[in-house]
Amino acid sequence: MAFESARGRIVRPLARTLRQHSEGAAAPQSNRAPVAKLSLPGPKVELRFPISSDARAFYRRFFPGTGPNEWNDWRWQMRTRIRSLEKLARIFRLSEDEYAAVARHKGSLPVGITPYYASLMGLTDASEPLRRTHITTGGEYAKAPGEDDDPLSEDHDTVVPGLVHRYPDRVLFLVTGTCSTYCRYCTRSRLVGNPGGEYQFSKSQWEQALDYLAAHTEVRDVLLSGGDPLTLSDDKLDWLLGRLRAIRHIEFIRIGTKMPVATPQRVTRALTRVLKKHHPLWMSLHFTHPKELTREVAEATARLADAGIPLGSQTVLLKDINDNPATMTTLMHGLLKNRVKPYYLYQCDPISGSAHFRTGVDKGLEILRALRGHTTGYATPIFCVDAPGGGGKIQLAPDPVAGRDGDYLLLKNFEGKIFQYPDPNGALGR
Ligand code: SF4
Repeated sequence: MAFESARGRIVRPLARTLRQHSEGAAAPQSNRAPVAKLSLPGPKVELRFPISSDARAFYRRFFPGTGPNEWNDWRWQMRTRIRSLEKLARIFRLSEDEYAAVARHKGSLPVGITPYYASLMGLTDASEPLRRTHITTGGEYAKAPGEDDDPLSEDHDTVVPGLVHRYPDRVLFLVTGTCSTYCRYCTRSRLVGNPGGEYQFSKSQWEQALDYLAAHTEVRDVLLSGGDPLTLSDDKLDWLLGRLRAIRHIEFIRIGTKMPVATPQRVTRALTRVLKKHHPLWMSLHFTHPKELTREVAEATARLADAGIPLGSQTVLLKDINDNPATMTTLMHGLLKNRVKPYYLYQCDPISGSAHFRTGVDKGLEILRALRGHTTGYATPIFCVDAPGGGGKIQLAPDPVAGRDGDYLLLKNFEGKIFQYPDPNGALGR
């Protein structure tokens, strides 16, 4: 996941540290060092994972011969991702703009959509929200003022390959360049995916990061991201989490992922058994729209929550996709019902070719005003801008201070009414 970052010093362009591999989780493993073996059950099909009627109709129509066993196998979902113009055109009625933009695409951030996630998208309407987030359009080729390939200057703060140390006590550890689906507004669009074989970090690069972490006792919090860490096999995740856990000053680990949303079949019983071994472990799930809140996602989040993993969401504010109070309120309420605390609402980062996704910052404040006080506080995320140039996250909120009347501070409530609070020695509102 591409949202969190951390503070440091040494400059090392991250892209040069990456190494190409072939496709996804099923990629040949020949240039990766072996990892510790677990006595876990092998990759089993989750027969009891729910399948919604829409998903069943979708795979019968577009993947004839596919049964529930394959559909519920996350490796099948990864292998069968829709990654070419030909496959897209077989499923979606592409607009001229989409067709031309996909045909023109080269380099990182290819189109990649799991069949499950495609089943949630509009097949004939190019303006359908989830489809807009995953099928390339011409807007990606127009670089607007202020946009940059690495707007958060993560490469600048990369201390060893894949490790971004920006904030004093925490780091961002990019463990893979592979995702199950590729979001067109991705902060790390410069890194993720690759048509000729996706980027992936090697174990020797992980070792460099682990050595750095062992030597830096000020680091107490490690966020695993990428790419999507849950595209790694259970064995690899277990090995990596175990090595991080063995560093005594690392107090807790977070994983940023979209897989439970875009490929919920990834949340197998075997995975939750692995994750449970490494508490305290927290997870940030990347949600965009209420359409993602399916039976399948409810099962995935329930399994993670039952494994004792605190779940928070991160959502990017996207123009004409989720940038209105009604959509966002529905999403936040749905997240709470799925045991996910709405955590961050992000202003979209100004990556190159993102102007068609970005709203004014005032839109985020309007949404917060619609949530605050009007619904439970748990449903209200933190709204922030990740400052271009590596300034880190800056929180924004509607200002409730209306002024001062002598010893009384004047505060505006959620209905816009003014109330006085006795504050004789205060300076606020003067
Ligand atoms: S899941 Fe989407 S936002 Fe996250 S790293 Fe992958 S492409 Fe970027």
